[in-house]
Parts: sequence; structure tokens; C-alpha cells
Amino acid sequence: MSELISGRTRVCGLFGFPVEHSFSPAMHNAAFRHLGLDFVYVAFPVPPRELGAAVTAIRALNLAGVNVTVPHKEKVILYLDELTDGARLAGAVNTIVPQGGRLVGHNTDGAGFLRFLTDDIGLDPAGKSVFILGAGGAARALAVYLALNGVEQLLVANRTLSRAAELAALINANTPARAWALPWPACGLQVSPNLLPYSSAKEQNHVLELTAGGTQELLASVDLIVQTTPLGMHPGEDTCPDFPFNCLGAGHVVVDLVYNPPRTLFMERAARAGARVYNGLGMLLYQGVLAFELWTGEKAPVEVMRRALLKH
Ligand code: NAP
Repeated sequence: MSELISGRTRVCGLFGFPVEHSFSPAMHNAAFRHLGLDFVYVAFPVPPRELGAAVTAIRALNLAGVNVTVPHKEKVILYLDELTDGARLAGAVNTIVPQGGRLVGHNTDGAGFLRFLTDDIGLDPAGKSVFILGAGGAARALAVYLALNGVEQLLVANRTLSRAAELAALINANTPARAWALPWPACGLQVSPNLLPYSSAKEQNHVLELTAGGTQELLASVDLIVQTTPLGMHPGEDTCPDFPFNCLGAGHVVVDLVYNPPRTLFMERAARAGARVYNGLGMLLYQGVLAFELWTGEKAPVEVMRRALLKH
């Protein structure tokens, strides 16, 4: 952000409802200031009935780019000209990039999670097996990007089994990865019986139930576990998703998408079992990094943006 806003200042923004508590203005404005770019990032509270008018205003006001957050990530697709493959499969857009008069929808939540894995954790997704707890919007975005970027196997466990099964079916039909749904917190596997690589599982009416030792065997084959439910988030810090922590060890990386508090009970219990644990700040940071790079064409000052988030 410039010292003084000038006649040439480019405006980026966030469309959501509410937006007052967003970390994005602090993160992006710190990056603009650091690079001396004549840009500013503003949060716009856009009620659902005004979403179409707000998207039209991107062109009318020549905005440099927009982030989209709850509750607009899915509905906004209706108003865009083009989507990246990842955004189309994820069924959600969190970043709009104006390009030659067209509005292109990206999903930097999913792409940002990938960049966090490679750049911060040093984990190459190629050939990996990932267990995802939850099957909502965040789970869908990261599952799609992991599956399009070399992850071999995805296990999606969710309270509502049909949502997990839908996500697994989407991955199996559109990506080279193999995915299964798993009822949670009970044990069992559903969807593609022939593909199941585990010995301690049996099939019954398309539901594959793990026999004794099955959970242990399943989690032993997994490299990365991602907790995508809101359980454990402030003000519910004392809640923790039910999980067989005794099956975790030093070979596991665990990411909880919650970042407030910075160390959730889920992370605490996984760390006690020996796993390497991370919170959701990295995903938040890198979705912003990718949006910044798409809008400005400049390499984002990642550490400046990270510090702004931590300070916020
Ligand atoms: P969402 O679409 O509403 O999905 C929520 C998921 O959590 C669903 O799978 C839901 O299961 C499950 N769930 C909710 N309450 C539950 C409960 N009491 N017991 C068991 N499961 C429960 O939400 P979302 O957009 O995916 O966001 C999920 C979380 O990720 C939030 O905490 C959000 O803050 C966080 N997030 C973080 C980032 C980041 O950058 N770090 C980005 C996006 C989201 P059902 O299907 O059974 O309802």
C-alpha cells in the first residue's frame, strides 16, 4: 500500500459476509508496502443478494483482483467467464483474476495448501497417501488439488458418509488418484471395493468394514492426515475430533486447518503420538501468496506476509 493513495492506485478486495475479522487486508497491504507497489486491499461486506452486482463492479471499477470468502465461494461461479480446472472440480472460487476483460476464477485454497506442503513442510505429494477428516468445502478444495498433483490415494472420513462418498466419486471420476469414503468416527470403507489394497477389510453391500487391526493397517499406509472440520476452533478449544491417535507415529505429518488457537488439541494429541504437526496458518498464507502473484505479477514477499498474519 502506498504512503498516500494516488490517482493510479490499483484496488484489490475481499468479497464476503461478514468480512470485518479477515486477516487478508493486513497480509496483502503489508506485502504491497514492502514492495512499494501502488496497490491497496480492502474488505467489502457483500450480502448474498448483492453478489452479482459486486462481481459486475470488478469490471466497472477496474479492480486489480478479488478474493472471495464465506458465503460466496460456490455461488460466485455463476458470474465468472472462466474457471481453472482445479476451481471447476472443487466447485469453489476464492480468487478472481481479471484478464483481458474476462473474469477468471481460481481456487488458491487448494493450490495454496499444495504450496504450503512443498515449500514449508518439504513434502512432495507425488505417490503419497492422504487421510482427510471432513468433506466440506475446504476438504474438497485440497482433495482436488492433491489428486491433480500426484497424490496416489485419498481416504475421506466424514460424519455424513454420503458427502465423503460424493467427494471420493468426484476424485475417482476426474483425476488419476484413487479415493475412498470412510464413515467417521466408526470404521469402514465404501465406494470402490475392487481397489481396496488392505488385507484387513471386507466388503458388505459396497461398504467395506475394517476388521480388527484394520485402522492400524490403514493409518500405517498413510503419509499425511488433514483435519478439516471446525472442531477445536475458538471458542471450542477444548473439543477434539475423535481419532485413533495411538495409530500415529514419527512417519506421519498432521495438518489441522484450524489456526485459532495456533495449537489445537488435535495437534497436541498427534504430536504426543510422535507425528509432525502444523496448523492452518500455512494454507491461509499461501492462498494469499498465490492470489498476490496472480494480481500483481510480482513474486510475493512470503515472510513479510507470514509476519503480518502472525502479528494480526
Ligand atoms: P464446511 O464446508 O462447513 O465443512 C465442515 C466439515 O466439518 C464437514 O465435513 C462437516 O461434516 C464437518 N463438521 C462440522 N461440524 C462437525 C461436528 N460437530 N462433528 C463432526 N464433523 C463436523 O466448512 P469448510 O469451509 O470446509 O471449513 C472447515 C474448517 O476449515 C473451518 O474450521 C475453517 O475455518 C477451516 N478452513 C481453514 C482454511 C485455512 O486457510 N487454514 C481455509 C478454509 C477453511 P458434515 O458433512 O457431516 O456436516
